[in-house]
Amino acid sequence: MSAETLVQLIYLVSTALFILSLRWMSDPQTARKGVFSGVAAMALAVVGTLTGVIATGGTHYWWILGAFALGAAVGYPLAQVPLTAVPQRTALSHAFGGLAAGLVGTAKFFLYYGQRNEAALAPFIVVALVAEILLGFLTFTGSILAAGKLQEVKWIPQRPVTYPMQNASNLALFGLALALGVALVLHPLAPWAPWAFVGIILLSLAFGVLLIIPIGGADMPTVISILNAYAGLSAVAMGFVLNNKLLITAGALDGSSGLILSVIMCKAMNRSFFNVLFGAFGQTTTASAEGEQKAYKSDTVESAAQVMEQANLVVIVPGYGMAVAQAQHKVREVYDLLRKKGVTVKFAIHPVAGRMPGHMNVLLAEAEIPYEDLMEMSEINGDMPQADVVLVIGANDVVNPAARSDKNSPIYGMPIIDADKAKTVYAIKRSKAPGFAGIDNELYFLDKTFMLFGDAKTVVGDLARKLAGDSGH
Ligand code: NDP
Repeated sequence: MSAETLVQLIYLVSTALFILSLRWMSDPQTARKGVFSGVAAMALAVVGTLTGVIATGGTHYWWILGAFALGAAVGYPLAQVPLTAVPQRTALSHAFGGLAAGLVGTAKFFLYYGQRNEAALAPFIVVALVAEILLGFLTFTGSILAAGKLQEVKWIPQRPVTYPMQNASNLALFGLALALGVALVLHPLAPWAPWAFVGIILLSLAFGVLLIIPIGGADMPTVISILNAYAGLSAVAMGFVLNNKLLITAGALDGSSGLILSVIMCKAMNRSFFNVLFGAFGQTTTASAEGEQKAYKSDTVESAAQVMEQANLVVIVPGYGMAVAQAQHKVREVYDLLRKKGVTVKFAIHPVAGRMPGHMNVLLAEAEIPYEDLMEMSEINGDMPQADVVLVIGANDVVNPAARSDKNSPIYGMPIIDADKAKTVYAIKRSKAPGFAGIDNELYFLDKTFMLFGDAKTVVGDLARKLAGDSGH
């Protein structure tokens, strides 16, 4: 077998593993396997490339090994961040991906330009090069800014920044970059070509920033998912430039999965996908949290435990607060104790509960709560009127009935879990502070709702003790 065949074979196995990885990751039961197969696919991709370099007499493999070591040194600590910081961590990964694609494209262009290599700068390749650097560099700055916003870095404005003619000026900038690209395709060896190339790079870097500044709040993770798609597409373009089939397929998988996830998230938040795509959304929402002071009714954990053990069906709605408090293991205890008493317990999972898609599934899986009791919003909502108790644990926006009824609410139209339709509602949170969208929640003021104020882990822990029969003395 020739070295080239061997390399292609390794790439083929790697591609198959990437595809399987996505397939497996779409189900919590096989997600772990999916992650490992993604890692194996990536490792094989590096092995394949290294094999190719060595087989063709290349001596540059130390660069590959060096980059491998450097990547691992940066990647390992990055992977240690808490789960709640995963969206911004992911944004940083996209930034690196975009930068890599942009730099490879730049190196290739200047290499071929220096060689006056007309064949290597054929129109198709230059189109791919322009796409690669345009998407790569805009992903780079856009993702850095998005990560900074999510991390709430002080000098980056968190709220959407808007100004007149924003879309028009953004489009003009993009149009200018495209025009330079067309000129470059037509005259890749012109004396001004390197300047046009650098011009496209600068415009892309600026465009990445301008695309992200009008966006804020709940829309950020959707945008990160879009940037994922852009990074994937720039890798596809890079694959065409380098004539590397693995890059083309892996980039296409990356690009399309990013796009699909964005569509899912847009639906779950009732956002227009078209607006996300062009960065023109995230209009400043006027928070109405400081309205008239309404009265909350709080209750004790004892009486909550008593009501719950009398129930037939208890639905638990976890949210961001459960993640912050890391209360999932205590939640598991409550689940076990209630089931022992013959109560049916289901979890209602909103697609955007927490701060990233699948956030609740990951936490509840960590606590080994059986998957069959995790219900999607659409599955559980029909059963809500039959629920004797809904226990809301650190969730807020995803159970806010204003999304159904208040046209002026910033979350109007977002599908919610119908917690307000249950017979009794217990809600655990630390204070009267609003949730992510910054708005009051009518659910907490209903006659049937009782607040259990406190940190989710402490309150759920107390609840477990009461259910276990400990009087607490
Ligand atoms: P929210 O952010 O709306 O509410 C969380 C609630 O948890 C807060 O009201 C807070 O109240 C409470 N809380 C915080 N810490 C604790 C703690 N230690 N113990 C007890 N309670 C706590 O969360 P939801 O999950 O309901 O909604 C998610 C929101 O995030 C939605 O608006 C969604 O659009 C948005 N979003 C979701 C993304 C996703 O992909 N999942 C991505 C980006 C945004 P208090 O401070 O009083 O304790």
